[in-house]
Amino acid sequence: MSYLSVNNATKQFGESFKALNGISVAVERGEFFTLLGPSGCGKTTLLRSIAGFNDLTSGEITLGGANLRVVPPHQRDIGMVFQDYAVFPHLSVFDNVAFGLKPRKVSAEAIKARVAEALAAVRLDAMADRLPAAMSGGQQQRIGLARAMVINPQLLLMDEPLSNLDAKLRIELREEIRDIQKQVNIATIYVTHDQEEALAISDRICVMNAGRIEQIGTPQEIYGNPQTQFVATFVGTLNFLNAGAALDAMLGQLNLSAAAAKSWAVRPEHLDLLVDGAPTSDGATLSGMVSKFTYLGREAHLQVETEVGRLVVQLANPGMAATKAVGETVSINVQPSAPMAFD
Ligand code: ADP
Ligand code: MG
Repeated sequence: MSYLSVNNATKQFGESFKALNGISVAVERGEFFTLLGPSGCGKTTLLRSIAGFNDLTSGEITLGGANLRVVPPHQRDIGMVFQDYAVFPHLSVFDNVAFGLKPRKVSAEAIKARVAEALAAVRLDAMADRLPAAMSGGQQQRIGLARAMVINPQLLLMDEPLSNLDAKLRIELREEIRDIQKQVNIATIYVTHDQEEALAISDRICVMNAGRIEQIGTPQEIYGNPQTQFVATFVGTLNFLNAGAALDAMLGQLNLSAAAAKSWAVRPEHLDLLVDGAPTSDGATLSGMVSKFTYLGREAHLQVETEVGRLVVQLANPGMAATKAVGETVSINVQPSAPMAFD
């Protein structure tokens, strides 16, 4: 049996709306498990149900084999980190972190030691006496993380903990969260709507859509082998190909039959610009007119109108892309393993 099991969970609000509609997930000991999906898909509702802040309409939740639904929220051994940090502004960093230990009958001596350990883990040990108001968002979220960890919980829940931080700090802190989680080895459920964050941080990702699960898998499985069109388009960029003779011919060059699937798509990074239109022996060739050029720093996107539809081509070398102007005709190589099939 899995460490945490959620089985066929539903949560209904009002007469008929189901925020969760038959959700089953299993999280293993020490696992970093991420709920990924657009705003409103039910991520927070699922997290709050596990924490006990709301009760499911139906379904089971077990933690370490025990029925969690009968345990009151304050007795659940769960640490939670929130998007808005939820630190107490009038308490010092130390007291914020110690807060969760007070009702747990831990001696003053032990509180001191455990808070010190938690603050060291999030690199705030030099700031124990400061007030949160005088600290940055990133530092406040470190307090939130230390406070959740200090009780040494059976489970850590994090609801979009990085969403209020700026881009650079978000990347720094997500790596730190990942490292700390692996160190303390506490099973963690992490919520985000940011696909790149989910890919970077998770052992496994559960992609949710409208109260249901679309796919559960490792980051590589989710990105490389999406099982539904929703997953394929939510995680990464995808070009869907128009059905017709041009598609049949393109797939034919790759020894694929268009009839084998309902729809076909390719990722931008599986298309290459052919310099001087030189054909390759490997892959299929398309031609089209450049309709847009987007420079993104380490890469560039070329939008090309082809016989199989509008394609975004990812160029790893923006210097080369810059030489392709809107209105120019270009040849594109479709890598042999590029086509993704969907039913
Ligand atoms: P997410 O965290 O993925 O953005 P939520 O779990 O917060 O999504 O919400 C899922 C859906 O349930 C949304 O449509 C939201 O409006 C609705 N919802 C959440 N909480 C309540 C509530 N207490 N009462 C009514 N509807 C709610
Ligand atoms: Mg939410």
